[in-house]
Amino acid sequence: MPEKHADLHLHTSFSDGTYSPEELAEHGRRHGLAALALTDHDTIDGCERMQAACEKLEIEFIPASEITVDVDGHEMHLLSYCLDTAHEGLCAELKKSQERRRARVHQMVELLNKLGIPLQAETVFEIANCDAPGRPHIGRALVQEGHCSSVDDAFRRYLKSNRPAWAPKPKITAADAIKLVHQAGGVAVMAHPGLNRIDQCIPGLVKAGIDGIECFHSRHSTRMSERYLQIADQHGLLVTGGSDCHGMNKGEPLIGSVKLPYLHVEQLKARSRKHRAANAA
Ligand code: AMP
Ligand code: ZN
Ligand code: FE
Ligand code: FE
Repeated sequence: MPEKHADLHLHTSFSDGTYSPEELAEHGRRHGLAALALTDHDTIDGCERMQAACEKLEIEFIPASEITVDVDGHEMHLLSYCLDTAHEGLCAELKKSQERRRARVHQMVELLNKLGIPLQAETVFEIANCDAPGRPHIGRALVQEGHCSSVDDAFRRYLKSNRPAWAPKPKITAADAIKLVHQAGGVAVMAHPGLNRIDQCIPGLVKAGIDGIECFHSRHSTRMSERYLQIADQHGLLVTGGSDCHGMNKGEPLIGSVKLPYLHVEQLKARSRKHRAANAA
């Protein structure tokens, strides 16, 4: 039997990716992946369709999300796997995040207007066409309306955290999010630590009960992956990995660029079973 692999970090048009769940699942099949997790930002709305699409292609599907959280004043992305997507507390919290995302779009559009750019929030919402609008959608609107040459250009000039149209996004704390993920039977994982440079927060996250760390990511160098494998070992954390594919947004689709050995999926599922047993007790 050839070894099975997974991609546990993927986005669709239910957040800021460009593929539909069906297109994404089809790409997964083409790359021979045995398991896929959908990790759209602050939403689980795409999971139902992704589940059905994967089932048709005989790919194992893991319901998940990439939750925006605050850890000691830094933004962090918390991957949450094997979620009970009907969990009321989780759904309510994600709804709140989506409200905050919408409010932030209004804020950032106002800042753009003050800079003399006549963009309308409605244009952004039309482009986003989902409940989790974000900066990439503002970027696409700026390109569509002829104010920027590319989404990258939009980020560089206006949308990055040190640029004039940026607005902060209020977030749930990492500790609260980890608790909530566990209540929903899920497994909480620190996303792409190599991109965040907040390693000093890891001991606190471990204390808060984080389960794992994303060691393999399309933007991690081999050295970075090795560093986080070591940190995982040191703290007894699960290891995950994924491409963080957003579709054709950024040139080539990234799905298939990270192939996580299936053993790690087994360990993830075992941890979810453990949380569910503890919740039921
Ligand atoms: P938000 O969640 O609204 O703060 O937007 C963050 C998302 O923007 C990230 O998840 C990335 O997918 C995307 N992003 C960050 N930098 C860029 C960039 N330079 N070009 C395109 N997308 C980006
Ligand atoms: Zn994204
Ligand atoms: Fe992320
Ligand atoms: Fe992501």
